[in-house]
Amino acid sequence: MDSQIAGATVADDMVVSLEYTLRLEDGEIVDTSEGRDPLAYIQGQGNIIPGLEKAVAGMAVGDEKDVVVEPANGYGEADPDAYQEVPRNAFPSEMELTRGMGLSMRDRDTGEALEAYVAGIREDSVLLDFNHPLAGETLHFRVKVADLRSASDEELSHGHVHTEEGVD
Ligand code: ZN
Repeated sequence: MDSQIAGATVADDMVVSLEYTLRLEDGEIVDTSEGRDPLAYIQGQGNIIPGLEKAVAGMAVGDEKDVVVEPANGYGEADPDAYQEVPRNAFPSEMELTRGMGLSMRDRDTGEALEAYVAGIREDSVLLDFNHPLAGETLHFRVKVADLRSASDEELSHGHVHTEEGVD
């Protein structure tokens, strides 16, 4: 990439392309960039979890690192109050609900977008879990900085990376 800066290390307002593999405490791989493009994000904008952003700061292109992120610096602790039981007929009858499936919904009062997971299915109701699926987990990352460049003014004002395929 022609915009790459020789000798640069990860600092605020830089676009970082990060190869990563995420494992849980027991070694299970829950996410990886292997086989696809690295994750591109702007350092210092809160685009990624705080514990990972902090650990990547100062790395150079080609550097690799193991990073352990505690829940408080990851997706937070699981909140036992973040469960809600809703009537089965709140969902279309033809919709097949399975345990663990993710649902996107909108808060009726605030219009805020919410992600929930089906935690249980009962005869007439569905138990939804509004915790992030990785809440309460200690995260084990293997990361490698694949590329670095300065973010454009437009990217900084939007707070996210624009790819070559198009801007938004
Ligand atoms: Zn944008």
